[in-house]
Amino acid sequence: MIRIGLTGGIGAGKSTVARTFVDRGAYLIDSDVIAREVVAPGTEGLAALIEAFGTDIVAEDGSLDRPALAARAFVDDEQRAVLNAITHPLVGARTWELLTAAPADAVVVQDIPLLVENGLAPMFNLVVIVYADTETRIARLAEHRGMAPADARARIAAQATDEQRRAVADVWLDNSGDPAALAEAAAVVWDERLIPFAANVTAQRIAPSRYEIVESDPSWPDQARRLAARLRLVAGAEAIGVDHVGSTAVPGLAAKDVIDLQVTVARPDDLDAVSARLVEAGFPATGYTSDEPHGDVVDPAAWIKRGHGSADPGRPANVHVRVDGAANQTFALQFRDFLIAEAQVRSEYEAVKRAAARTGEREAYLAVKEPWFAATYPRVREWAALTGWSAPAT
Ligand code: ADP
Repeated sequence: MIRIGLTGGIGAGKSTVARTFVDRGAYLIDSDVIAREVVAPGTEGLAALIEAFGTDIVAEDGSLDRPALAARAFVDDEQRAVLNAITHPLVGARTWELLTAAPADAVVVQDIPLLVENGLAPMFNLVVIVYADTETRIARLAEHRGMAPADARARIAAQATDEQRRAVADVWLDNSGDPAALAEAAAVVWDERLIPFAANVTAQRIAPSRYEIVESDPSWPDQARRLAARLRLVAGAEAIGVDHVGSTAVPGLAAKDVIDLQVTVARPDDLDAVSARLVEAGFPATGYTSDEPHGDVVDPAAWIKRGHGSADPGRPANVHVRVDGAANQTFALQFRDFLIAEAQVRSEYEAVKRAAARTGEREAYLAVKEPWFAATYPRVREWAALTGWSAPAT
């Protein structure tokens, strides 16, 4: 199963995307529907709201009078907290119920208007954002939903900003054109990314990446940040840090378009538990359980790891689980910082990688890269000692 978070500001066009996904087989969990369901007539949710806010919040037909509830609940933070304490657990329980009922190979799409506002992005394998600019949304809400422009504007102002949405978007769908264009773009995402992603997770297969060097991409750090947030959540308490490492963490350095992340665990005994959770979360194991030893650290225990990769065909990534303070764990961080500090070495490394990538195959790539690495290893350690390098806080 993979879980997709679908969101966007009010009037952005989430319904079109949700419909496209559902038509193609998505298992939809709509949080607006659930929010209404848990306070429908006859529910314990409605009873609890009446208990807290009085019988005036019930309409003549016995249903919840939303404006009346809003008038009582949105007066201050305390009343708002009372409301949330009643509804949030009910919504959570119902969502969980629906999630556990989903087929094992489902593509679950959770339509959540306040996904960004509530900081939920790391909970999903992928976040899809639907975007249209403010004026377009206000016009559409007026035309199709009869919403007063001032009302629409106030609601938009109370929601997340476009920048906040961009920061968590793995997929950005622009709805500036007509609905057919949006549906078409959503269908491409479904066919080319979500379906292969889900199939890879089911088969425990890492999405393929190419042994090809591309120019440095300024969005790599942002992409790494999103992956790191997800990894921090899924790796559990044994993981004490997640760092962006490797060439994509070095600004300006050409690299394979594969983001490397290092998950640090406190003790060797933690490796397997964290590794199992990564598999569960869509990061299948590579099978590599150690790194190539370098320098004078010959004890294999200093080089153990658990290698993982991402199943997402739209964002190849390597995830290295290593032990805090081990030779491989400190080296990954020092090598990154060394390259950031030393322009000369950076261009040397880039040239070596370009030569190594010429064959396009892993073994040949490593055969060229490893000797340079072996020669550079002592220089990195020496640089770290001379500069008083210490591990950054993560
Ligand atoms: P959301 O669910 O994100 O709040 P909707 O999908 O309901 O937004 O879209 C808001 C309104 O704008 C709807 O009434 C919809 O029919 C209309 N709409 C959506 N996309 C377009 C579009 N590309 N062009 C014109 N109207 C649109």
